[in-house]
Amino acid sequence: MARVVVLGSGPAGLTAALYLSRANLQPIVFEGMEPGGQLTTTTDVDNFPGFPEGIMGPELMERMKAQCERFGATFELDEITHADLSERPFKLTTSFGKTLEADAVVIATGATARYLGLPNELRLRGHGVSACATCDGFFFQDQDIAVVGGGDSAMEEATFLTKFARKVYLVHRRDTLRASKIMQERALANDRIEFIWNTVVDDVLGADKVEGLAVRNVETGETSTLDVTGFFLAIGHTPNTKAFGDQLERNDAGYLVVQGNSTRTSVEGVFAAGDVADDEYRQAITAAGTGCRAALDAERWLEGTHG
Ligand code: NAP
Repeated sequence: MARVVVLGSGPAGLTAALYLSRANLQPIVFEGMEPGGQLTTTTDVDNFPGFPEGIMGPELMERMKAQCERFGATFELDEITHADLSERPFKLTTSFGKTLEADAVVIATGATARYLGLPNELRLRGHGVSACATCDGFFFQDQDIAVVGGGDSAMEEATFLTKFARKVYLVHRRDTLRASKIMQERALANDRIEFIWNTVVDDVLGADKVEGLAVRNVETGETSTLDVTGFFLAIGHTPNTKAFGDQLERNDAGYLVVQGNSTRTSVEGVFAAGDVADDEYRQAITAAGTGCRAALDAERWLEGTHG
């Protein structure tokens, strides 16, 4: 039986594992189906402190993992597909059908950015297609780019991207926005943002990098090409909570709810860190911070109950 198991290997999971291993709790980390998490799908990371020249996302995650291994964390290239949290020790089942028990669990399974499912969207991810303006906006200085979505994320990202881009097209499938009034007004007042209403994106064009978007007006059926070199998706994220069913309290958007100023979930002994419990900040550094807090919360809880 494990004392503590960490689910997920993004910045939150690996920081939790680092602190837990340094507390001699020998955490087992289930890396999940995307080891390293969302950062492994980006290129340069320029906003993680300590890397003045920037660092490639996958390398940052490899370094974090190596740091955990140095202190005794072990890694399983597997994911937990079912967790029975009804009694302790918790019973976890992996995608390979293995089972194990744990006194405490840190959930750092992250959230997955939604993509449109276009034929060439994933092929060009990291080559002009991105779901993170904060991460990648800087690379589009003086270029024309597009954002798809009509919610707060789309408004926020489009507005943020005008710091770099010459022009930002905001492509939305309807003629009204879902975003809050204040965010809408800010975006609508920005003369570098051009709204393209009632329009969907049919595909991303380009051989090795984004060279345009094939778009279609849903009212008229008219198709055209939008000349852009960047395409940002802002159509929401899905927190990865499937393995827990309804056992943990979630908010309306499906994110895990933590208790007060802690990482405790609604089940004692289960802690949440990173994007699975954060639909607001979603940064590598904030995820790492909550990973640290989850490890400290789990350590204290284990000391109290299993001393
Ligand atoms: P959201 O509110 O769910 O909005 C998603 C947007 O994407 C909607 O406009 C939706 O269009 C569009 N969309 C979804 N699927 C699509 C598809 N297949 N094709 C084209 N368009 C599609 O998601 P979000 O903007 O990420 O926000 C999530 C939550 O975080 C919200 O509660 C939001 O308020 C919050 N948030 C807050 C802030 C802030 O306050 N600073 C910033 C970001 C996010 P329809 O409108 O037609 O459905």
